[in-house]
Amino acid sequence: MAFESLTERLNKAFKNISGQGKLTEKNMDDMLREVRLALLEADVNYKIVKDFLVNVKDKAVGQEVYTSLNPSQMVVKIVHDELVALLGEKEAPLNFKESGMTVVMMVGLQGTGKTTSVGKITSLLKRKYNKHPMLIAADVIRPAAIEQLQTLGKEVGAEVFSLGIETPAVETVRQGLARAKESGADIVLIDTAGRLHIDDELMEELAQIKEIAKPDDILLTVDAMTGQDIINVAQAFHEKLNVTGLVVTKLDGDSRGGGVLSVRSITQVPVKFIGLGEKMEDLDVFYPDRMADRILGMGDIMTLVEQAQEKMDLEQSEKSARKMMEGTFTLDDMLQQVEQVQKLGSLGGIMKMIPGLNQFASQMDDEKTTRQMNRSKAIIRSMTKEERQDPGILRASRKKRIAAGSGTTVQEVNALVNQFEKTRQMMKQMAQLQKGGKMNMNAL
Ligand code: GDP
Repeated sequence: MAFESLTERLNKAFKNISGQGKLTEKNMDDMLREVRLALLEADVNYKIVKDFLVNVKDKAVGQEVYTSLNPSQMVVKIVHDELVALLGEKEAPLNFKESGMTVVMMVGLQGTGKTTSVGKITSLLKRKYNKHPMLIAADVIRPAAIEQLQTLGKEVGAEVFSLGIETPAVETVRQGLARAKESGADIVLIDTAGRLHIDDELMEELAQIKEIAKPDDILLTVDAMTGQDIINVAQAFHEKLNVTGLVVTKLDGDSRGGGVLSVRSITQVPVKFIGLGEKMEDLDVFYPDRMADRILGMGDIMTLVEQAQEKMDLEQSEKSARKMMEGTFTLDDMLQQVEQVQKLGSLGGIMKMIPGLNQFASQMDDEKTTRQMNRSKAIIRSMTKEERQDPGILRASRKKRIAAGSGTTVQEVNALVNQFEKTRQMMKQMAQLQKGGKMNMNAL
């Protein structure tokens, strides 16, 4: 994920003053110097860094009355608020039309993830907003862009309109919009052509499409990996087309993040979505405050809760959790819990969103944990129903069969069963203690 080294550097800067009782001019200056280096190293535009530090200093000086916060907490809060301001204060939703069909035009340089983002946004519109989107394939330049959109359309369940690469893009858009109206779509996304660099011919074509489509939103995809170049690209597109929002892609990569931090402030175009992977669900609405939390290593519990609500079967999880607490859970429940947790993604990724645990996320060996979890799942799946209910009946021959069936060893089967029995025993004791009023679960 982007911002990793920025998070580390900022936390180091804050730590230096955390042990000091008072905020003085001297320790404040030392800390600000560190913050400045951290931001510059993250490739944030130098003008923005300058203004940022002036604002932080001004606010810190004016806030000396907040004695309940120690100096480092106070500075973290101020830096946090300034980051939120830089990133745009509030989320910027799509400009949905009140009635009639909303039109969204996607633009961007080739390879930035434009076509992929059309698919992802369509998927989000269906999942979260209950919309009926239709897609228009107007990228007639990049070979295979039309087929790519058709494949994505199929995957997310949306009709894709295309007239092939021989028809000019403007004509495709004209006919596509008519078709969308006929079909009763409530939102249309137009995938347009990109180029490797900004050129006049491209801009002219996009301006013509804009003229015909009268889009409610023009979203520009920019690749986080290109750093501050994002700003130049965004400015060029904005001058010609009046872009209404940005989709910053590839934030799952190890970009330093500076471009993302600077672009809103310089172009005044809000970031509306962020791309966090290649899969269709790897897109989030951009929330400035949550991003600031993440950058400062404060976790992002809101996104985690939302993902849990969307991806996990909460009823089922609650049921197994309750059985677990009562000490009556079976290996089937254990299997389900593992499956549910895995739906949320990598454990390191989950930890990053939990305040307090995020600092340990980089120490997680995700591959090893996933391998372990997959082996545990394979072992349980190789058991019969009876065995999962009561592993006590497992004798040597059964264990051999399970090990062979799951591609593991008898030792691993033993280890899993022992672990399971131990946990169940412990849970049972806790349940009894709690019943007897001797233990307050909240105190755990
Ligand atoms: P276009 O030329 O702008 O339409 O670009 P594509 O949509 O074809 O994307 C170019 C490449 O970037 C593809 O391999 C995508 O899978 C990949 N890509 C797009 N968005 C993301 C993202 O958010 N994260 C990652 N890791 N890859 C992405």
